[in-house]
Amino acid sequence: MKIPYKIYLNEEEMPKQYYNVRADMKKKPAPLLNPGTLQPMTAAELEQVFCKELVQQELDDTTPYIDIPAEILSFYKMYRPSPLVRAYELEKKLGTPAHIYYKFEGNNTSGSHKLNSAIAQAYYAKKQGLKGLTTETGAGQWGTALSMACAYLDIPLHVFMVKCSYEQKPFRREVMRTYGAQVTPSPSATTEVGKRILANDPDCTGSLGCAISEAVECAVTNEGYRYVLGSVLNQVLLHQSVIGLETKTAMDKYGIKPDIIIGCAGGGSNLGGLISPFMGAQLRGEAQYQFIAVEPASCPSFTRGKYAYDFCDTGMVCPLAKMYTLGSSFIPSANHAGGLRYHGMSPTLSELYDQGLMEARAVEQTSVFEAAEYFAKIEGILPAPESSHAIRVALDEAIKCRETGEQKTILFGLTGTGYFDMIAYQRYNDGEMRDYIPTDEDIAASLSKLPKV
Ligand SMILES: *Cc1c(COP(=O)(O)O)cnc(C)c1O
Repeated sequence: MKIPYKIYLNEEEMPKQYYNVRADMKKKPAPLLNPGTLQPMTAAELEQVFCKELVQQELDDTTPYIDIPAEILSFYKMYRPSPLVRAYELEKKLGTPAHIYYKFEGNNTSGSHKLNSAIAQAYYAKKQGLKGLTTETGAGQWGTALSMACAYLDIPLHVFMVKCSYEQKPFRREVMRTYGAQVTPSPSATTEVGKRILANDPDCTGSLGCAISEAVECAVTNEGYRYVLGSVLNQVLLHQSVIGLETKTAMDKYGIKPDIIIGCAGGGSNLGGLISPFMGAQLRGEAQYQFIAVEPASCPSFTRGKYAYDFCDTGMVCPLAKMYTLGSSFIPSANHAGGLRYHGMSPTLSELYDQGLMEARAVEQTSVFEAAEYFAKIEGILPAPESSHAIRVALDEAIKCRETGEQKTILFGLTGTGYFDMIAYQRYNDGEMRDYIPTDEDIAASLSKLPKV
C-alpha cells in the first residue's frame, strides 16, 4: 500500500479516551511525598494546590483508559488530529533505506503540543467552579497555550514568567496578554518566595523552579485559585497521550510498525504522550520498540542525573517527586531550548528509564541547530529548538541505517515551531552559538543538596 505524505485521521478516528500507561506498569512510579512529613501526598493535600479531578488522575495508577470530556474533544477538533508525516524528501536527501515519520504538533497558535494538556487542565478547573489559575512559564510556550485555553473557557490566568524570558521574549509575553492573561516577571515582589529570592540576589534573572514556587504561593494564598503545571506530572502525560494514540491509529491503518521512537525530553510530557500507547503494547508483551529520549547536554537529567526524591521547585514548597534529577538548585547554563531546561524529569518516564525500557541521549546545541536547519530546508517546517533535539537523533539513526543498509522505521515527535526562537537561530547563523556542558563538579554540587529521604 502506498503511504501518503501526510496521514490524517478523520474525526471519528480521533481518540475519545486518554491512555494511562501507569496501568500497564508492573512497578509503578514512586508517589509524590509531602515535604514536611515525607509521607505520600494524600488527595486532600494535593487538592489544596491542584483541582480535584486532576488530583484523581494524578493518583490513578490502575485505570488504563479515561474518557475525554465532550468539551475538550470539541476544542481538540479545532486543531487536531495533527498530521503524521512520512518524510519522503528527507529520506531521499539522506539516501537512507530507513523510513522516517514525524508527528507534527506545531499546528496551533501556541505552536506546540502543550495545548493538549492546557485545555484539559483549564476544563477541569472550570468544572470545579474555580475562580482562576496560576502557572509559571519559561520560554513562554506553556503560558501561551494555557492563555489560549483559559481565554476559550473564560477563566482568569496569572502567569509567572522567568524574568530573562519576560525581557528577552516580548512576543510570547504579548501573545499571552492578548489572550487575556496577567503576566508577572519572576522573581517578583508580589510573593514571599519572590521577595526572599530577591533579597538574596536583587539581580536574579529567574529560573523555572523559582517561577513555580511563586505560582504555587499565589494559588494557595488566593481563595478559589489553583496551580497548574505544563509538564512532569502524571496527569500531563495522560493528556498528552492523544499524540501517541493518534499516531498509533494512523500507523496501524497502514500496517506500519515503528522500530525506533524518538522524542525530546524536558519534563517528559511530549515524549511520554507519544510513547505511551506503544510502551503499553510492549509492557503487555504485544510488541517491541526502541524508545529514545533526547535531552540537551547542558541539562542532562537522564544521562547524568540521579534517580532520587527531589523538590520540583527552587523554593521547596512543592511535593517531592522521585525522578531523574540534577538537583533543584541546578541552574543550567544559558542554552536556547528553554523548554528543556528543567532540572528533573517525569516520574513515570524516570521509572521506565530506570527499568531499562527506554534509552536516553544528550546532544549539544550546535549539532541540534545544524539538524534544525537541515530539516527546515528539506521538509519546510521551521522547528522549535526543543523539537530539533529529536530531529538530531532521528537523522543520526537514519544515517546509521545508510551505513548498515538496515531498513528501519523511525518515528519522532516534532513538538513545535520555532518562529519565536529566531534570536537562537541568529546566534547559530552568526557562528556565535557555544556548547555548554556542566562539569561533574557542577552536578555533584547540586546533587549534594538533594533532600535526605
Ligand atoms: C515545552 C516544550 C518541550 C518540552 O517539554 P516536555 O514536557 O518534555 O514535552 C518540547 N518541545 C516544545 C516545542 C515545547 O514547547
